[in-house]
Amino acid sequence: MSYILSLDQGTTSSRAILFDKESKIVGVGQHEFKQIFPQPGWVEHDALVIWETQLKSAEDALASASASWSDVAAIGITNQRETIVLWDKRSGKPVANAIVWQDRRTAEYCDQLKQDDRESWIQKKTGLLLDPYFSATKIKWLMEENPEAIELAKAAQLAIGTIDTWLIWNLSGGKAHITDVSNASRTLLMNLETLDWDQELLDLFQVPRSALADIVDSSGSLAESSSCVTTQPIPITGIAGDQQAALFGQVCFSSGMVKNTYGTGCFLLMNVGTEPVYSANKLLATVAWRIGGVTEYALEGSVFIGGALIQWLRDELRIIDSALEVESLAAEVKDSGGVTIIPAFSGLGAPYWDPHARGAIMGLTRGTSRAHIARAALEGIAFQVADVASAMEEDSGRKLETLQADGGASANGILMQTQADLLGVPVLCARIAETTALGAAYLAGLAVSYWGSKKELEEGWSESRRFEPASNSEDRKSKMLGWRKNVARVRG
Ligand code: ADP
Repeated sequence: MSYILSLDQGTTSSRAILFDKESKIVGVGQHEFKQIFPQPGWVEHDALVIWETQLKSAEDALASASASWSDVAAIGITNQRETIVLWDKRSGKPVANAIVWQDRRTAEYCDQLKQDDRESWIQKKTGLLLDPYFSATKIKWLMEENPEAIELAKAAQLAIGTIDTWLIWNLSGGKAHITDVSNASRTLLMNLETLDWDQELLDLFQVPRSALADIVDSSGSLAESSSCVTTQPIPITGIAGDQQAALFGQVCFSSGMVKNTYGTGCFLLMNVGTEPVYSANKLLATVAWRIGGVTEYALEGSVFIGGALIQWLRDELRIIDSALEVESLAAEVKDSGGVTIIPAFSGLGAPYWDPHARGAIMGLTRGTSRAHIARAALEGIAFQVADVASAMEEDSGRKLETLQADGGASANGILMQTQADLLGVPVLCARIAETTALGAAYLAGLAVSYWGSKKELEEGWSESRRFEPASNSEDRKSKMLGWRKNVARVRG
C-alpha cells in the first residue's frame, strides 16, 4: 500500500495527513505550538519548533496508519502563508523568530509607503495591497534589526523563506532552497507577470536576491527529502499556500469556480484562469498554482472574523458553551429580530480594508434574546462573505454559479442556508472537509501519477450537503443594502 503524505503547517498547529488513492484519510498527526506575542500587535513563531512539530506530526500520522516512510509515494506541503523565516545556510539556525502573517509591526512603514503613492505601483506589480500582512516589510524589519542577517547576506550564507521553503530546506537536509509560485506571490516581492522576483521591489525593501529561494511549480519533481530525515529519499512533489491548496482540494480547476473556507476567518478564492485579474475592489490577485509551466490565477478576499465570532459568543459573551451549540440556539428564532452584528474586531478585511472600523451589535430591543444574537452572529459571517463575493463578481465580470464551502464553521446548517439565501446560489459542502491538506496531496500525487489526472480528481469530488437558495433577488438586494448601511456606521 502506498500513500501521499500531506504536511499542513498552520498558524496554530502543525498537522500531517496520510491519504490513500480514494482520497481517504488513513493517518493523522497534529501538534499545536506556542504563539509568541512580544508586544501588542506582534506575533512570532519559533521556526525550529515549527519544523520539530511538523516532523513529529508526520511520524505520528505514519504511526497511526501503521505505516512507515517507505509507504509514502510522495510528499505535498501546504502552509500558513506570508510568515517569514531568515536563517543561516551553514548552521540551519534561524536568525530570529519567524514573523507571522498576523503581525502588524510594519503598519507605520506601510502607511508611509502609501503616502509616497507606492500602493498602485505595488498593486500593478504584485496584485497585492500595501499591508503588513505580506512578507516584504517583515523581511526589511528583520534585516534592520538583526545585524547578523546583513553579515550572512554579505557572505552569501543568508536564506530567506516562507514556511514551505523552511520546511523543504529541513526535509532535504539543507539541499533544496525553493518556494512555489503560490507562496512567492504572497511576499510582495514577486512580479505577477514575470513570476520572478522583481528587482525594483527587492531594492525598495532592501532584500538580497541571493538569499531568496528559487521559484518552482506547485506540482512536479520539485525536491527530495534526505534519508537522514525520512530514512529514505522521498520525492517532494506538491507545494501550495494554504488557501490555494484548499482551492485545489475543492477541485476548483475551472475559471469561475469559487470556494470559501469558514475557519477563524473566511477566505474566498475564485479561479480566474490563466490571466491575472487585478481588482478594483481591494481584492487580491494571486497565483493559484503552476503545473507543467501553466499558471492559473485566483482572486482572493478575506474576512478577518468568521468562526472567531462564534468563539467570542462562547468565551466572552458566554451565551453558548460550545461552537456547536450556536446552531440550536439560533434555530429557536426564525430571524435575528432586526439585530445586526458586524464583527469588525480587528478592522474590516475585503472589500473594505478598514483597520479603524470596530465591531458593533445594532438593532437591540427589549425583546432581543440570546437566540437573536446567535442568529445575527451567523448572519454577520454570511453577510461579510456575500460582500466579498459580490466584489469578486464585479472584478471578474462573472456570476457565481455555486459556492463550495469547507472549514470548521461550514458544519453549521443555518450559516450555510443563510449564505445560499444571501448569494442566491447553491452552497455545497465538500465531502472531505480537509480540503487544504487534500489539495497539497493532490498536487503531489498528480506529479507521481498516484492520481492519473485532474479529471479523475474532479470525478472523485462530491458534496456532503447542499443548500439551495430560498430567496428572491429583491430580498437579497434589500438585505445587502441594509447590511452595507450598517457597515458604513462602524467604519473608521
Ligand atoms: P482554523 O483552521 O482557522 O483554526 P477551523 O476550520 O478549525 O478553523 O474552524 C474553527 C472555527 O469554526 C472556530 O472559529 C469555531 O468557532 C468555528 N466553528 C466550529 N464549529 C462551528 C459551528 N458548528 N457553527 C459555527 N461555527 C463553528
